[in-house]
Formats: sequence, C-alpha cells, structure tokens
Amino acid sequence: MSLFTVFCAVLSVLILVVFIREVLRRVTSQRQCPICGDAYPDRIKRPAWLKSMQFLLSSARYQCHACGNRFIQLGQSSAKALEDSVMH
Ligand SMILES: [Zn+2]
Repeated sequence: MSLFTVFCAVLSVLILVVFIREVLRRVTSQRQCPICGDAYPDRIKRPAWLKSMQFLLSSARYQCHACGNRFIQLGQSSAKALEDSVMH
C-alpha cells in the first residue's frame, strides 16, 4: 500500500467524521438545541427544499438563541407540522 493510498483513506475518513458531526449538530428529533440543550429555540423559516419534502418527512427549523446554532427537527407530529406549514 502506497503512502498516497493511506493519505487518501485517512482524508476520506476525516471528511466522513466531520460530515457526521455536522449532521448531528444540525438535525435532531427533539425540539431542544442539539449543542447546548436549550429547550426554547426560536422558530425560523425552513429552506424551500425542506418545505417541499414535507409530504415525505415532517420537519421544523429552529435557531437557538443561547448558542446561535440553527437546526432542523425531523419527525414532528403531522398535526403540528400542518399548523406550521400554514404559519409559514
Ligand atoms: Zn444552543
């Protein structure tokens, strides 16, 4: 195994780890902030691509005012999601 192969393998693992960390920071199934645990984040507008996936996956977007993290909550109850889609 050449040094270049090892380098590529290490690099791809690093990219994967960073990607997974980013996803875990930004996607949660609860309303709490995934970073600091703040229970009362602010609702913010969802991006259009997420809104268009509403029929597949209910979602809501929040911004934590304690640490500034923006995250997406997936798997909301459909009644709440419907109410939110009317709101926005
Ligand atoms: Zn936070």
